[in-house]
Amino acid sequence: MATVAEKFATIVGPANVLAGDRIGPDYHHDEALVGPPQAPRYLVYPGSAEETAALLVMASDAGVPVTARGSGTGLSGACRPVADGLVLSFERMATILEIDVDNQVAIVQPGVTLAALEEATRPYGLMYSVFPGEQSASIGGNVATNAGGMRAVRYGVTRHNVLGLQAALASGDLIRTGGKLTKVSTGYDLTQLIIGSEGTLALATEVTLRLFPRPAHSATLMVAFDDLTAVMAAVPTVLRTGVAPSILEYLDTRTLDALSQAQGLELGIDPTVRSAAQAYLVIGLDNREQDRLDADITMIGELLDNSGSLDIYVLNGNSARLLIEARDKAFWSAKAAHADEILDVVVPRASMPEFFVRAEGLARLSNAHLAGCGHAGDGNVHLAVFCPDDDREHLLHSIFSIALELGGAISGEHGLGRIKTAHFSALTDPANLALMRRIKDSFDPAGILNPGVILD
Ligand SMILES: Cc1cc2nc3c(=O)[nH]c(=O)nc-3n(C[C@H](O)[C@H](O)[C@H](O)COP(=O)(O)OP(=O)(O)OC[C@H]3O[C@@H](n4cnc5c(N)ncnc54)[C@H](O)[C@@H]3O)c2cc1C
Repeated sequence: MATVAEKFATIVGPANVLAGDRIGPDYHHDEALVGPPQAPRYLVYPGSAEETAALLVMASDAGVPVTARGSGTGLSGACRPVADGLVLSFERMATILEIDVDNQVAIVQPGVTLAALEEATRPYGLMYSVFPGEQSASIGGNVATNAGGMRAVRYGVTRHNVLGLQAALASGDLIRTGGKLTKVSTGYDLTQLIIGSEGTLALATEVTLRLFPRPAHSATLMVAFDDLTAVMAAVPTVLRTGVAPSILEYLDTRTLDALSQAQGLELGIDPTVRSAAQAYLVIGLDNREQDRLDADITMIGELLDNSGSLDIYVLNGNSARLLIEARDKAFWSAKAAHADEILDVVVPRASMPEFFVRAEGLARLSNAHLAGCGHAGDGNVHLAVFCPDDDREHLLHSIFSIALELGGAISGEHGLGRIKTAHFSALTDPANLALMRRIKDSFDPAGILNPGVILD
């Protein structure tokens, strides 16, 4: 009788099935800082939507749990496999199928990376606007985590930029949702249900993405402030101008120091400002016309000058690029500094100062410390937590509770994965959890899709 691996091989060919020790350690984990790696029993590389659907039927029949994997850059353990499970890696499905210039749409397979899409759209003067820090991440992974990133303040997150999907269901059906449409009012929105579901409802086998024209001129302002509260007070001031910044990030001074050391960043900040400033606001602006961009820079500069900033720097092209690249790599700097966990709590923008004060207070009680940066325009706080002892889970739970009390959520863009699902279960209204459970059951009655993620 054929083994399960042999049955998978009838679908994708023997070269695309690995089992046991032949599966390399990269497939045992993602980039989450917490939790042990886990070897899967099988690793399979489908080459098409039809093969993906057939694999799901076979896994259902054999009772094998399935964890989809894009590039493994996730920060919440969502593609960490289940023991005895199957990892279904989309590396072979990495073709950009179409760039439709007139409809400003790209249709891609799920294994396409952000870097590949950036290269492919550039010659058309178009861009995919979602810009999470790790460009090797795949579009399938972005869809499943509802990835955000620095440009969300202007363009929204993944769910605002995915127009349609083809997805494989656990039943083996392939469904299509949405399309090259910017609006639709026809039944339940299955596209939006699948986005952010972390591989627990269906597997994306093709994605239709909205593209935007590339801005012609851009500038980056770095504004120094006494403290984080002053930075956060400046955020609504900037947004009220009606100039829609493409980036609105904050960095605390510990994070800027760590980035400067790790990435050799030299921004020309006056040493007296550097020693006085506790936090910075980074503002990205762009425009079709250079003179309009210059007018926006002057207006925002004057406003912030009158709003208690210590100093304002308009970075030249090279420094701006280096700063944004360094900010993208903030995770690696925090990891190198031995952070024990990175959180991406989200709260209403105006509640960020209160969140910081209360989270700092909790950290002091646990002899922990917090450092961070984040998407100030979105209320999305990226906190590096330094708390190596047993108190950590208790501290994280308390920080999540504060976020919820302020009307926020546990994760703004990294997802729950295997790391935060237990906190989510404990902190979420049982009626909401029960409804989510019924949705999960109707997509995946046998519970084979990424069990243990989102729902315990
Ligand atoms: C340095 C660094 C910076 C980062 N910065 C950001 C940031 O600014 N913003 C942000 O949002 N994230 C950020 N991330 C996190 C990460 O890049 C994103 O979560 C990304 O979306 C993960 O994509 P991936 O291809 O690596 O997915 P994986 O890690 O491989 O998988 C993530 C989830 O997607 C599921 N999945 C993968 N493919 C499919 C598919 N085809 N169908 C269904 N489910 C699928 C997996 O099962 C898993 O649940 C950062 C990560 C790093 C390392």
